Amino acid sequence: MNFDYIIIGAGFAGATLAERLANKANKKVLVIDKRDTIGGNMYDYKDENGIIVHKYGPHLFHTNLENVYNYLQNFGVWFKYEHRVLGMVNNKLVPIPFNLTSISKSFDKELANKLIDILKNKFGIDKKIPILELRKYPDKDINELAEYIYQNVFLYYTMKQWGKTPDEIDPSVTNRVPVYVSLDDRYFQDKYQCMPKEGYTKVFEKMLESDNITVKLNTDAKDILQITDKIYFEGKEFTGKVIYTGPIDELFDYKEGILPYRSLDFEFEKLDTKYFQDVATVNYPTKEDKFTRITEYKHMTIQNGDQIDKTVIMREYPKAFNKDNNDIPYYPIENDESQKMYKKYLAKCNKFDNLYLVGRLAQYKYYNMDLVINEALNLYNELEGE
Ligand SMILES: Cc1cc2nc3c(=O)[nH]c(=O)nc-3n(C[C@H](O)[C@H](O)[C@H](O)COP(=O)(O)OP(=O)(O)OC[C@H]3O[C@@H](n4cnc5c(N)ncnc54)[C@H](O)[C@@H]3O)c2cc1C
Repeated sequence: MNFDYIIIGAGFAGATLAERLANKANKKVLVIDKRDTIGGNMYDYKDENGIIVHKYGPHLFHTNLENVYNYLQNFGVWFKYEHRVLGMVNNKLVPIPFNLTSISKSFDKELANKLIDILKNKFGIDKKIPILELRKYPDKDINELAEYIYQNVFLYYTMKQWGKTPDEIDPSVTNRVPVYVSLDDRYFQDKYQCMPKEGYTKVFEKMLESDNITVKLNTDAKDILQITDKIYFEGKEFTGKVIYTGPIDELFDYKEGILPYRSLDFEFEKLDTKYFQDVATVNYPTKEDKFTRITEYKHMTIQNGDQIDKTVIMREYPKAFNKDNNDIPYYPIENDESQKMYKKYLAKCNKFDNLYLVGRLAQYKYYNMDLVINEALNLYNELEGE
């Protein structure tokens, strides 16, 4: 078959473009992925007990982008799910982000009420106050609250997640850790929060089901595409368009260096118990535990968890990314140096008038799935929009 488009990667970036190009613009599309599954990092499966498990870490859909929310409704039924996270803070489980309930659970009643009154009066209800700002506030108790959150919620979690020592942690990052002056214990406040009833993989199957789409798994782009002065597909010049959603440094044989990422090891455990913990995710911002969080999937992926006597949990261990160990690049480490390197790769890519980049790896951005889908919809409009 002659393809109008070749898309590398069957994650949300690649699948969204394939779906739009095939169904709206009637283009012939080849989607290739080196994995043996579709869905990229969103891939999930139902285990023998009927629990949907996310192979590459917990994925919650949340967005304020109405167009993305509406778009996804075309590919299956979604149920409302609002994520809640608890943190093991000083041996107590408290809501994360740290909020008014967390304060009540962490301090004696008198001090907690005092802190809550000051926060409400000074900042107002439902405001998120960065702890750097609280540190500057001329009240000893509030300063101590900021220090408590920094030490017990932020410091070790960040060190584990990003592999940094306290000195290497940029103070501006601390700025992002808030106290939430609210009793709202939802992890996200986005307008749309939901999960696919049959799991993400089924959503991808629907997105890719057109006769205009050919999906080829277990296929590395490197084995069928040669990118030299021009783009060659299976030995012949390819004059259609190529959309690449994999790591941009890999595409150009790491000629400008290896872009830094953080990777993760996942440790799954099946338990003969109905529930292991009260919410889907419990964070461990502790020095002693080497993992950052434990996710119990049935809370977030299925609606009939009460009827299943077994459960699956997963611990996440962040680690340095080493391409030679076949680690998966999960989190781009965005800093001045990596951005400089990324721009060199971008310049190489821009020399081709039929090569396009989209997605977390190709754009080297810490995008959530909604932003990846939005980027893909924008690229579709650029390529084929009326
Ligand atoms: C642990 C974790 C938790 C997350 N949780 C959330 C969340 O709760 N909510 C949220 O919105 N977002 C979350 N995200 C982000 C979300 O995973 C991404 O935004 C989304 O999956 C990115 O889609 P993508 O298509 O850009 O990339 P990917 O899903 O990574 O897809 C890229 C695909 O390209 C393929 N590929 C790469 N190179 C080649 C090659 N040379 N040849 C062939 N195929 C190739 C890969 O195999 C892969 O399938 C999370 C990310 C991580 C790491």
